[in-house]
Amino acid sequence: MNHNRNGKIFVNFFILTILFYSAIAETYSFSNNNFDKNLHWHNTNYKKCSSQFGNNCYDYIVVGAGTAGSILARKLSDNPRNKVLLIEQGYWLSLNPVVQNASQWHLVRLDPLIERGYISTAQVGFGNRSIPVPRAQGTGGCNSMNAMVFLLGNRKDFDERWGKIDGWSWNDLSPYWDSIQETISPTQLDPKHPIMHKLLKGAIEIGYKYNPNPNNLNSKQGQGGVSARILMAKQISNNYAERRSSWNAYIQPILPRKNLDILVFTQVTKILFNKNLQAIGITTYNVGKKEYVHFYSRKEVILSAGVFDTPKLLLLSGIGPCNELNKYKIKCLANVQGVGKNLQDHTFIKIWSAPLRDQETPLPTNIFGMWGALAIEENGEYYHGLDVGEINGKKIIQIYAETFHYKSRGSITLLDKNPFSKPVIDPNLLSNSYDINKTLHSIKIARTFLSTKTISELTEDFNEINTPLFHTNDEKKLLEWIQQNIKSDAHPSSTCTMGNRFQDDKMIVVDRRLRVRHTKKLRIADASIIPNLISGNPNQITMIIGLKAADMILEDNS
Ligand SMILES: Cc1cc2nc3c(=O)[nH]c(=O)nc-3n(C[C@H](O)[C@H](O)[C@H](O)COP(=O)(O)OP(=O)(O)OC[C@H]3O[C@@H](n4cnc5c(N)ncnc54)[C@H](O)[C@@H]3O)c2cc1C
Repeated sequence: MNHNRNGKIFVNFFILTILFYSAIAETYSFSNNNFDKNLHWHNTNYKKCSSQFGNNCYDYIVVGAGTAGSILARKLSDNPRNKVLLIEQGYWLSLNPVVQNASQWHLVRLDPLIERGYISTAQVGFGNRSIPVPRAQGTGGCNSMNAMVFLLGNRKDFDERWGKIDGWSWNDLSPYWDSIQETISPTQLDPKHPIMHKLLKGAIEIGYKYNPNPNNLNSKQGQGGVSARILMAKQISNNYAERRSSWNAYIQPILPRKNLDILVFTQVTKILFNKNLQAIGITTYNVGKKEYVHFYSRKEVILSAGVFDTPKLLLLSGIGPCNELNKYKIKCLANVQGVGKNLQDHTFIKIWSAPLRDQETPLPTNIFGMWGALAIEENGEYYHGLDVGEINGKKIIQIYAETFHYKSRGSITLLDKNPFSKPVIDPNLLSNSYDINKTLHSIKIARTFLSTKTISELTEDFNEINTPLFHTNDEKKLLEWIQQNIKSDAHPSSTCTMGNRFQDDKMIVVDRRLRVRHTKKLRIADASIIPNLISGNPNQITMIIGLKAADMILEDNS
């Protein structure tokens, strides 16, 4: 199928989805014409929930059907006595073939009904460029848009870099890793394929150890301690065809479930609190009906709206730094200074590519972007992706570098008090010399790897056309080039940081049981609680957060 035809199908499908969902969104909305901001009115409705359901009452309300939210809603509703509401701003992505086809993952970002269109502020460390900050809306959230790389991080991330949070050590999390791996069954690349074999050999030439399964918890050199991870697992089905998102794996198999209601095209605009700062419900806006509706929770409200929208929702609801809220004339209910702070991310720079000398041997799979990955050092600080694919009919390999343990910290704040405005995102990446040096070093590692005998035999020369600055020793030039070309790798985290206990640090937003500071019956379960971004891609730890949150919530409400 040629690209034009692919493009047309994509556009047609896109128009059809808009029409279809505009129509069905109507049927998903509950009408409530008594919209009223009055606290007393909400309290009365909430109180009715304790004696009867109806009146838009649920036990649990989960905001956001993304990576963590899908798992959480599934687990909470596994007990038929729990009535659960899952609310999602986007639409049912399980009906979208582009989302479900693993090989088309790079097209998902082109769909404006899915991609939220967030852009950063001008980034000093990126030569004052503003960069796209990709985020998805729709069932599965970013797990319906992401590159499906399935890595679990390093033992030291949890045991040391997170600062020892009770219940969140590597050993505490291991059963959740096991359970998720079992459910997702990620696919591994074939290390015996001749091209993969050479990539691995090149890595071994510069000192890596071969690790047959990077996600094997018991492997000494694997995730649990690590000298190298050379193979990459992908969150896709065994035949390399379908995406295995948390939505596909956890919600899809249990639909329809009587005690789980799912609203799509519905944006949560506010969390409702009573006088004791107990979350009693939420306000939503339904895109189809153009109508505000309230829902009430008998037990808890859980925010799984992601790293930008969870803090945004807290701020809109009056939970955040009071001085900031005052600026927007939002009544400050609780001064929680860490909301929206401590934003972290990984960077990504595609460095060099070269055609393979052997153009005959078929590639490892028919999917462009099936990568072998390298992570160097015991700490897992650097990560080099190796793409094997086809560009303009030529088989190539390309390498990109990613650095994991950055020190730069950014923030997300409100633009204004309008819930429909996009947030102001300042990742503040490469803003200090430590991070700059790390990035330069990661590029040097890539160069050493590409210069090995094995890789030189595998590829044509890394000349200056495909590989700018491959031979230069001029760090200033290299740095300028980095600043112009480096991107976010779409791994933002930590904007509602978790800590062991609130008294440990005023910037902690949730405690180790994910309860929001100064509030009651309100928790967060998504990538925003990660204290320190891990040495790997964050989807899997976010899935674990969803799973562990469910356990804690059920335990506390039993
Ligand atoms: C392009 C891209 C590539 C990536 N590649 C990888 C990868 O290969 N491997 C990996 O491990 N990680 C990858 N990631 C990162 C990973 O996908 C995310 O870290 C993870 O999905 C975050 O999960 P979450 O539950 O925090 O948020 P999300 O999955 O984003 O879920 C949040 C959900 O909440 C909904 N929502 C937001 N606000 C509201 C509201 N007000 N009302 C109702 N609903 C709302 C959103 O629509 C969304 O569905 C990638 C991310 C992107 C964007």
